Amino acid sequence: MLVTEQKKAYWEYQYRLGKEYIIPLLSDWGVSLSEKKVLDIGCAEGGVLCSFADLGVEGYGIELSSSRLLIAKEMARKHHIPTIHFIIADINRDYFEEIYTGIGLNDSPGPIEKIYPRAAQLALFAATVGPELVKTISDLFAKGDFAFANHLDAAASSGTDLISHVLEAQFKADLIRQGRANQQTVVMAYSPGYCGWHVSGQKRLFEFLRPERIGVSLRESFLMEPLKSVSGVLIAGLREIHQFAPTYYVCEQCTTRDCQERMRKLSEKSCCDRE
Ligand code: SF4
Repeated sequence: MLVTEQKKAYWEYQYRLGKEYIIPLLSDWGVSLSEKKVLDIGCAEGGVLCSFADLGVEGYGIELSSSRLLIAKEMARKHHIPTIHFIIADINRDYFEEIYTGIGLNDSPGPIEKIYPRAAQLALFAATVGPELVKTISDLFAKGDFAFANHLDAAASSGTDLISHVLEAQFKADLIRQGRANQQTVVMAYSPGYCGWHVSGQKRLFEFLRPERIGVSLRESFLMEPLKSVSGVLIAGLREIHQFAPTYYVCEQCTTRDCQERMRKLSEKSCCDRE
């Protein structure tokens, strides 16, 4: 896309604001940026984030305005900063039921099949940090720069994990803007391969969403290509629908018990909302 001179000048202003004011201020306050992640909510054209990225900080931006987001992506690309490519597509409950059922290999009963029928809104998503970063990592391994390659690989993996949270926020913001949700709405992402949703569910999900449009394809094994990609369903609704006792059969073999942390955070938020 063409970024006008005026937009570039404004991006420069944001970049200098980050570099010459915010970063030195954080340093004066004794805030170390080493191994930190930065989330810029309302990142506009992303200039401030780029100033952090130039220090090697892993940055994530959320922006409601799609035109500003497009400029942010373009400027980040020019700055050699990888950006997230994603698709979010609304889906109705009946259609999602078909996709979730897939080829019938899910662990049933499981938590997701209890949650989605109570959802107010559903959307499928797929996202990737893109093939460039994966190629950079494999080039570094090939060159024998194992320390940097490992470091970048770990950062890309944790970045991929965080993408789901970025998309949860994006979907909620979209729903609020469209008058289909409010601040109390909770959006959570659930993916094939977790919580009883068999990984073969990727097949139907891909047929519906066609993430090939953003460069994500599916291998025979149902792993995604590039590997640093994520897909699933965003479930929006009342907080209560995401809270449950993890006593399903599938939970007995679960090693992460990720839901515990998510529910703990939801309970904390619930306390704050009542204050
Ligand atoms: S215990 Fe594991 S499998 Fe069960 S709901 Fe929680 S995260 Fe999912």
